[in-house]
Amino acid sequence: MTYLEPEIETAPADRIASEQTRRLLEVVRLAHERSALYQGRWDPAGVKPDDVQSPADFRRLVPFIDKDAVRAFRDRTGDAFGGLLCVDPADLTTITASSGTTGDPTFFNEMWAGLACAPLPAGYLRALWMMGVRPGDRVLCNAATFRGWIEDAFRAMGLVPLLVDTWMGKWAEVLRVIEQHRPTYVQLMSTNLVELEHLAPHHDLRKLFDSFKAVSFAGEPLGARMRERLSTEWGLDVFVYTSAGDTGLAWECTEHDGYHLWWDEVFLEVVDPATGEPVAEGEVGEMVVTSLDNDAAPLIRYRTGDLVRHSTAVCPCGRTSPRVWVLGRGGDETVVAGRSVLPHEIWTAVESVDETQTGLFQIIRPTREVERLRLRVGYDASRPVDLPELAARLASSVADAARLPAELVDIELETEEALLRRGSAAKVPRVAKS
Ligand SMILES: [Zn+2]
Repeated sequence: MTYLEPEIETAPADRIASEQTRRLLEVVRLAHERSALYQGRWDPAGVKPDDVQSPADFRRLVPFIDKDAVRAFRDRTGDAFGGLLCVDPADLTTITASSGTTGDPTFFNEMWAGLACAPLPAGYLRALWMMGVRPGDRVLCNAATFRGWIEDAFRAMGLVPLLVDTWMGKWAEVLRVIEQHRPTYVQLMSTNLVELEHLAPHHDLRKLFDSFKAVSFAGEPLGARMRERLSTEWGLDVFVYTSAGDTGLAWECTEHDGYHLWWDEVFLEVVDPATGEPVAEGEVGEMVVTSLDNDAAPLIRYRTGDLVRHSTAVCPCGRTSPRVWVLGRGGDETVVAGRSVLPHEIWTAVESVDETQTGLFQIIRPTREVERLRLRVGYDASRPVDLPELAARLASSVADAARLPAELVDIELETEEALLRRGSAAKVPRVAKS
């Protein structure tokens, strides 16, 4: 009942090791044969697929790549696929874009065909099953603004997709659809939560939402206070997911303790950002991923910039895929008067204040090292606010969380709507230059 594909989800370690090794070797051979990006990087380094016979060889011989390498290849050659493509472009079924938070959307080139044989749908279906969604259920689709619609995958599982626009600004209508069709699943993002907060006084959200078996939350981490509210006030069972470093998705399980990276979709490494050497389980390092399920445009030893801890221990949920705990993006660390501050530390402080409980904020920093912590914070303008008093309360809360003197914290307040307009699409960049 718990697992959609029990033989994969609970596979023993020896099977995981042997199948990952087989796929790693295949992907390396394929990329060397067909991908201009990898040829251009591996040939000068003397990397030959015949020399890669084990994960140890793979780690020792194959160079890292990152998003900038793909963009640089694209800009240099005009190849829209960044040199990654290993198939005839006509054989692709799907090109979708990321939200572009890092300034330039990433494109995902994939071949989707049916159930569980493409990175994005496969990542969803096991999770939907885990959340209790079953054939015949009506489900709301994600907005197609980026990463496309995935209703084909929903249909492949026997679900009935409700194709209405769930993007921000549309939730008054979405609530009517929920009332009439009683869907069992929807995905939420922070922008939806801001809108729902404003709709909440006029609707009985708890009653409307009682058809949901579960909801997912994506795009950003979910603050502890917001998760608690979603559960206690709106009665929602929330599962957060995140990107498996652009290779697919990584979901929370029923334990809500870390994100699983499916072992048959992605080969995980966690390395010291400075040396590239592996770090021990439980230590902080940069997540490096290799796609095992994308022969169209595989990412190989792709440095994600995400700082994580990881564990390969069997999860209490029974799944044997490794888990990661995301601590932030390496580039998002700000050093204030010599002290390192990460966005998640500020998050807790901002969402603990009633008027800013949606956790919308930006760290404004022209450079990584600054003398004062300058924050732009979005407040709920639908009720009366004493702005100077609110700014002082926020500064004190942030100073506590970041272990800084309150006089080094500057707060600039904007309405939530104004702050959202600074975002790319689904989220507000947590770090802004100005
Ligand atoms: Zn688990």
